Amino acid sequence: MLHSTMQDVPLLISRILAHGSTIHGRSTVTTWTGEPEPHRRTFAEIGERAAQLAHALRELGVDEGQPAGTLMWNNAEHVEAYLAIPSMGAVLHTLNLRLPPEQLAYIVNHAADRIILVNGSLLPLLVPLLPHLPRVEHVIVAGPGDRSALDGVAPAVHDYEELIAGRPTRYDWPELDERAPAAMCYTSGTTGDPKGVVYSHRSIYLHSMQVNMTESMGLTDRDTSLVVVPQFHVNAWGLPHSTFMAGVHMLMPDRFLQPAPLAEMIERERPTHAAAVPTIWQGLLAEVTANPRDLTSLDRVTIGGSACPPSLMEAYDKLGVRLCHAWGMTETSPLGTMANPPAGLTAEEEWPYRLTQGRFPAGVEARLTGPGGDIMPWDGESAGELEVRGPWIAAAYYGGPDAEPLRPEDKFSPDGWLKTGDVGTISPDGFLTLTDRAKDVIKSGGEWISSVELENALMAHPDVAEAAVVAVPDEKWGERPLATVVLKEGATTDYAELRAFLGESIAKWQLPERWTIVPTVPKTSVGKFDKKVIRRQYAEGALDITEL
Ligand code: AMP
Repeated sequence: MLHSTMQDVPLLISRILAHGSTIHGRSTVTTWTGEPEPHRRTFAEIGERAAQLAHALRELGVDEGQPAGTLMWNNAEHVEAYLAIPSMGAVLHTLNLRLPPEQLAYIVNHAADRIILVNGSLLPLLVPLLPHLPRVEHVIVAGPGDRSALDGVAPAVHDYEELIAGRPTRYDWPELDERAPAAMCYTSGTTGDPKGVVYSHRSIYLHSMQVNMTESMGLTDRDTSLVVVPQFHVNAWGLPHSTFMAGVHMLMPDRFLQPAPLAEMIERERPTHAAAVPTIWQGLLAEVTANPRDLTSLDRVTIGGSACPPSLMEAYDKLGVRLCHAWGMTETSPLGTMANPPAGLTAEEEWPYRLTQGRFPAGVEARLTGPGGDIMPWDGESAGELEVRGPWIAAAYYGGPDAEPLRPEDKFSPDGWLKTGDVGTISPDGFLTLTDRAKDVIKSGGEWISSVELENALMAHPDVAEAAVVAVPDEKWGERPLATVVLKEGATTDYAELRAFLGESIAKWQLPERWTIVPTVPKTSVGKFDKKVIRRQYAEGALDITEL
């Protein structure tokens, strides 16, 4: 029996921290402040401050295996927490600041966070919650913001800078098991309570390496990444870890996420890469159309979280900015696919590949399960529910401090694959095309209509800013599509014209009869169309419907 002769060095976040803060010590994290000058800190300084933070947290009683919550924007201090908390053996629990208060309280209590790091600007959100968070013993406040609301609250309050000041800038990071918990994120929970996914050191390390591969984001120390996707949304798609590993400069928007400051940030700081959901890119496009800015430093943009409308990709192509579609979920760390076309194609031949959700990397195995439970072929035509497995894919949800992990049947197959709830096809060369969320497909008279296809076709109309299509009950057909449309300013189109426009690319039987114009499409806490809200508004008669 032959044995491997290789060393068994655990894949730990502390190794990413040590590598980034020395080999790439001169790389920087720039945080937008809204002041004339942004704030800059080198990776070397981040490394020292992470050690100081770890000393402080240990003194406050944070031990190995315990969660520490962060309620923070994307900024340098949040990166320090990202590196310090897992490296010391504790578990970084990023809190989604856009969740409704009762869900936020639920996840803090469910994870049993005893410490919360919070940005001063988010205290108005945290303070009213504190009476409902009986386990929280310490609140550590970083950055500007009125702190008077904290007077007299129950937990002990600390100032981040005062807490870490004067502490040793080195920490003897423990040699942990690489399978130990490192970070946790709760799903944005469109139905039921949010569910916790707990990442390990190993899963984060391997995921970071994949993010850095050329076939994925392929960033190096020559790049600056504008990390718009929040650090509470699947670890900002893994960017704080992967960029620290490769010395990629980070540009962090803090709370300045509106289109105008984002456009200014890009023009002034000239990032080469950015990552955000389609809603952000829609808003930025409207902004730079009204007030032109130079965005051409961006030569790669990662767009995902929901389907990228082809019209959006085309519009950015015209601005010299190439959007690259990616698919993933909280349960997949999140990188599942990226739409870099195969080599040797002309721009025209690349286009259909760019519109897919992308290709699976070596670490992600995929299969499609058809309606009857059969595994469907990768022929680009047979549709099924996407199931995935791999070293950075969840095998269960967190059950709570004293409970077993949860493996709901609708989320995990008996043989251990994650059921994504996404429906689509896979081409023979491994490119995934999603047609819908299983729960958003419109089931009309025994046939399926893709809400995403209708939305993409509608958003290609020059007068349409945004469009969301949902299934509504229909006596004759079971379900039919309802089109909710946001028009651009000064638009003159009407429903009949929009329907005729759709008819140019969509089969007649799929065209919506029910239409409504809305001021804005409701969005979830991470900026996706919230179709549940639209369906409820329709059921309650709150929408002004026109039938054609
Ligand atoms: P979350 O866990 O909040 O990131 O949500 C994951 C879900 O977002 C996936 O299961 C998909 O339904 C959706 N999603 C993510 N990326 C894409 C994409 N590129 N195209 C379509 N849907 C996407």
